[in-house]
Amino acid sequence: MKIKYFDNAATTKIDKEVLKEMMPYLQEEYGNASAMYTLGRNAKKAIERARKQVAELINCEPSEIIFTGSGSESDNTAIKGTALSLRRRGAHIITSKIEHHAILESCKYLEDKGYRITYLDVNENGYIDIEQLKKEITKGTILISVMFANNEIGTLEPIREIAKIARENNILFHTDAVQAVGNIPIDVKEMEINMLSMSGHKIHAPKGIGALYVKDGIPFKRFIDGGYQEKNRRAGTENVAGIVGLGKACEMAKNNLQEHMQQLENLRDYYISQVEKNIKYIRVNGTLKDRLPGNANISFQFIDAEALLLKLDEKGICASAGSACTTGDPKPSHVLKAIGLKDEIANGALRVSFSEENTKEDVDFLVTNLVEIVEDLRKSSKEYINKAKK
Ligand SMILES: *Cc1c(COP(=O)(O)O)cnc(C)c1O
Repeated sequence: MKIKYFDNAATTKIDKEVLKEMMPYLQEEYGNASAMYTLGRNAKKAIERARKQVAELINCEPSEIIFTGSGSESDNTAIKGTALSLRRRGAHIITSKIEHHAILESCKYLEDKGYRITYLDVNENGYIDIEQLKKEITKGTILISVMFANNEIGTLEPIREIAKIARENNILFHTDAVQAVGNIPIDVKEMEINMLSMSGHKIHAPKGIGALYVKDGIPFKRFIDGGYQEKNRRAGTENVAGIVGLGKACEMAKNNLQEHMQQLENLRDYYISQVEKNIKYIRVNGTLKDRLPGNANISFQFIDAEALLLKLDEKGICASAGSACTTGDPKPSHVLKAIGLKDEIANGALRVSFSEENTKEDVDFLVTNLVEIVEDLRKSSKEYINKAKK
């Protein structure tokens, strides 16, 4: 059975060209980048080339890119590092209720250490409340961290506006852009972003590689202690192959961004319109205005998305119920709760996230199966049967 993959927000397939660039560094070019001999210097050169490729995608200096082990590590570094380095200035951080767990849990950790965290509300479309943000700022606020694009409902936050407010109040601004990088144009200089997290495996590079942009001159404290790699900003022997892969993926994303966005948007809009046309009692979650091109999140009333996922899997279809992180967790996703969905609507939410490998025919296949499976699952819902009678 051929797999139909619609879970690109959870992870992506390594691109063939990315893999090709990486292969030498997994085989003959195995030198330690800190070594003085040619083999080591080759690794070092490859890392520096990748640093430039990553920097060019988001318009920063290569020296402002720190390679990390994941998007989660980048988030942890930004939150905990800033908290530690600015402890004397203040102990208040503002974030949102719909952040990835890498941010939320880092904040929780800091709460246990005596920091105060404000979790901003979002409206039914998933946008943070700018007025609330302004009101929550105090003298002791040291950091604002709001995600660029939400991983579950695809909402793009008003990053420019938030960054401006942060700058006017002399507060650092970090954004988790793991979902946005490579899918949305990002210019950290123009947008006045101080720190930005990204991850390889969400953009067709391998798992276990991430990067953190840290604007030159801002206070920074490293999170992983040890050797002096990454100019003493992140210890650990460099994952050369992973770094090379991330660099290549960024280069490809930059060269292809407009076409990529258009193609994903077309698939997404077609999918949503087909579901709207063929299935009753649905709700599109998030906003259609500022949305990740490849994200569609739709609640199917009267069913449980977990059951739906199992049935889809039988057809070789991969998708997600809310967020991958909530798998095995019976609670509805914190994001869907934050946008105000009732539990029964949140529990029926299916996230579909596209890549350039998906075709219109794939979407037809998905929708055809959804129509059948949703109808079938609804047969065991008393509420649905009562509704259908009326
Ligand atoms: C996937 C993801 C992360 C975590 O990245 P990893 O590389 O998997 O650790 C963080 N934030 C968002 C928004 C994500 O989608």
